[in-house]
Amino acid sequence: MSQVILPGGTIGILGAGQLGRMMTTAAKHMGYRVAVVGASPDDPAAQVADHFIEGDLMSPESAARLARVAGAITVEIENVSVPGLEAAACEVPVRPSAAVVRIAQHRLAEKQALEAMGVPVAPFREVTGAAQLREALESIGFPAILKTARGGYDGKGQVRIADPGQVERAFEELGAGRVDLVVEAVVPFEKEISVVVARDAAGRIAAYPVVENEHRRGILHRSIAPARVGTNVRERAVEAARDIAEGLGLVGVLAVEMFALPGGEIVVNELAPRPHNSGHFTLDACATSQFEQAIRAVAGLGLGSTEQLVPAVMLNILGEHLPAVLEKYTSLMQDPHVKVHLYGKAQARPGRKMGHILVMDRDLSRCVERADALWSWLTGERRD
Ligand code: AMP
Repeated sequence: MSQVILPGGTIGILGAGQLGRMMTTAAKHMGYRVAVVGASPDDPAAQVADHFIEGDLMSPESAARLARVAGAITVEIENVSVPGLEAAACEVPVRPSAAVVRIAQHRLAEKQALEAMGVPVAPFREVTGAAQLREALESIGFPAILKTARGGYDGKGQVRIADPGQVERAFEELGAGRVDLVVEAVVPFEKEISVVVARDAAGRIAAYPVVENEHRRGILHRSIAPARVGTNVRERAVEAARDIAEGLGLVGVLAVEMFALPGGEIVVNELAPRPHNSGHFTLDACATSQFEQAIRAVAGLGLGSTEQLVPAVMLNILGEHLPAVLEKYTSLMQDPHVKVHLYGKAQARPGRKMGHILVMDRDLSRCVERADALWSWLTGERRD
């Protein structure tokens, strides 16, 4: 099996959303052909790929069909068939590996893997029943968060438990034990941060600068890069991300979401073994984008520089923001500090990620001011 895929060869991507679209365009710039698997030929990545395969990502057959046309396979989402990836790996390189994807699919497996690597995580317990949950909460304490182990995203699949009186309702709300659950302590964080890290097949690691993330209603609203955090936090966050990439034996790109505590400690919350929304600033603000980095890794090549060339603020455009973005698009495009990326999605539902705006300025605080002013102008919202 050839471990290096040269331009002209085909990269296969499981998933056809916006991350797959931006991976596809990065691959096309490098001279690759791209095949993607998704639900519809109008999916964001399907619009720009060379081959579209209609398929269910959780079916092993999807990876098998991709392996027939691609020289190497990667993912743009972790919810894909692990047995499918395992079988495909007998035919072509699969990067990241099925083992890494399996861990990232399951919060409990993920936390156990992180703990085994010596990476700090919030105190947690597996939940096997209501009585055992009450018992677990005696040691974890209140407030706590109950989370589904699989399939949660954008704040879905989790319930806060403020006191013992809320335990039963939270348990019922998340399926009363019909799905795997994890309970964890609420972390009194100062900031949410993330690090995107890449590791190539030769084991070389390259981390992007730490990013500061703000969520609204569970969905990422904006990311500030570099994060306005102290040296302690920065160093610990990058070290944790590197340790995790190494510990997992990752080949690909991995986003590590973390909490920064007031004392400068960090706690890892979640992993995503693929490019990540908080890494979109790398498209225009870094020497190599996270998408190109993912393609380099899957193709068996070395990594590009992760150097950040200019501070940036990323603002997500959700369905409810799209009309204003289009109405003001020509004005937006006159601002030399602004880049607008849209994902080609036909349906603009509230909360759906339709695109993002990057605001860049050589001075970080001026960059944040510009982003604040732009967002108020665009949406009428004021930052308090
Ligand atoms: P998650 O689905 O784990 O990414 O969680 C979504 C959001 O919920 C995070 O971005 C945090 O804002 C919040 N959150 C999740 N877990 C915790 C925790 N243990 N302590 C405090 N906030 C949390």
